[in-house]
Amino acid sequence: MYRFAPSPTGDMHIGNLRAAIFNYVCATQKNSGFFIRIEDTDQERNIKDKDKEILKTLEVFGLKYEHLYYQTKNIKFHRQLAMQLVQENRAFACFCTEEELEKKREAAKKADIPYRYDNTCLNLNNEEVLTNEKPFVIRIKQPTIPITFEDGIKGTLTFEPKDIDSFVILRQNKYPMYNFACATDDMLQGTTHIIRGEDHVSNTPKQEHIRHSLGYAKTLKYAHLPIILNESGKKMSKRDDASSVKWLLEEGFLPSAIINYLILLGNKTPTEIFTLGEALQWFDIKNVSKSPARFDIDKLRQINREHIRLLENGTLAKMFDYGDENIGNLAKLYTEEASTIKEIKQKISTIFSKKNAPDGFENEFELIKNELLNADSFETYDELKNYIMQKTNLKGKSLFKPLRMLLSGFEHGPELVLLYPIIKPYIKEIIK
Ligand code: GLU
Repeated sequence: MYRFAPSPTGDMHIGNLRAAIFNYVCATQKNSGFFIRIEDTDQERNIKDKDKEILKTLEVFGLKYEHLYYQTKNIKFHRQLAMQLVQENRAFACFCTEEELEKKREAAKKADIPYRYDNTCLNLNNEEVLTNEKPFVIRIKQPTIPITFEDGIKGTLTFEPKDIDSFVILRQNKYPMYNFACATDDMLQGTTHIIRGEDHVSNTPKQEHIRHSLGYAKTLKYAHLPIILNESGKKMSKRDDASSVKWLLEEGFLPSAIINYLILLGNKTPTEIFTLGEALQWFDIKNVSKSPARFDIDKLRQINREHIRLLENGTLAKMFDYGDENIGNLAKLYTEEASTIKEIKQKISTIFSKKNAPDGFENEFELIKNELLNADSFETYDELKNYIMQKTNLKGKSLFKPLRMLLSGFEHGPELVLLYPIIKPYIKEIIK
């Protein structure tokens, strides 16, 4: 059972989407289940309707799932399990105040040693504790043996007990801490494999320790995906537009191209251009590199052009609000110089808008325009060109510059001999 567990606390970034894709692919390959868990227990950071936006994004990318859980629905179980650990003497109530803890953190900082909770409340009498009126948190006891787990990308990872202190699992307000909710949900929901970003590696020993303490015997397998770097080699952040899935979609990158790129990134694949369906045939997480991958928008642009070319003309045309298959052809022709749906849209709308003569060619432009408006249609571009040449005596630059502007709205672009057959049906609409 695989899962994708987004927090509704911000926009989905490409790292999240990459984890979702990999989980989906592995679950589908193994015919194991795939579910979504919205990790919404951090009430203060939740953003209204972000969950719906995330689910919509998964739909846009065709990542189907079998179940949808909301973590807050499990809070009663989180509380029960935390109390169970207290009763079994594997967790304890801690009355240390934030000020006391802060002082100790400061002292550790000054001494340049990593702060670990000093177990002040470890040996309080639990019976007495639970009837005490003072606010308390619940801490799980520090592990006594090293914690080891298998990572499909990084190999075997081991953490020493000293690196994990007696950490908080239930807050004063009786809400679970992130690691506790996540670890117990994975147990209750039968997760067998966890694929997620590398930023979670340090959470994994804590989550393993929680499940061991609860007596859960099943072994979970992990794959922590290397971070994605921006073009200057720094970790991609919100400040990098291309890290936002929403931005990429708004810019006109196709979901299929984004999927292709995110699977290709830092991976060994049999081909460079593929669909999600094809990747299901050969994807193997072991081929994903251990080192961070660098995001290259030019590569994504190239892949996007290839995916635009792979679309049916009719499907493509609908993206430009024209039902006509010919417009699909036109869009494909423009992939020579434009890479996204947004850029192509601009080309197409310019073709259909009113044109201005290129500087210095005003007379020629008007002349050609009048001839074309009054002429019947031409079967081929050569017929059109010959007709204009004959009627106007124009040639060379004086002919081609204004003619290109009239037909495409740009001074440069695809060969007119390739453009004309596609725009022929709308020629009277275009020449204005
Ligand atoms: N909610 C976590 C996040 O969005 C995911 C944790 C996980 O996959 O275990 O980063």
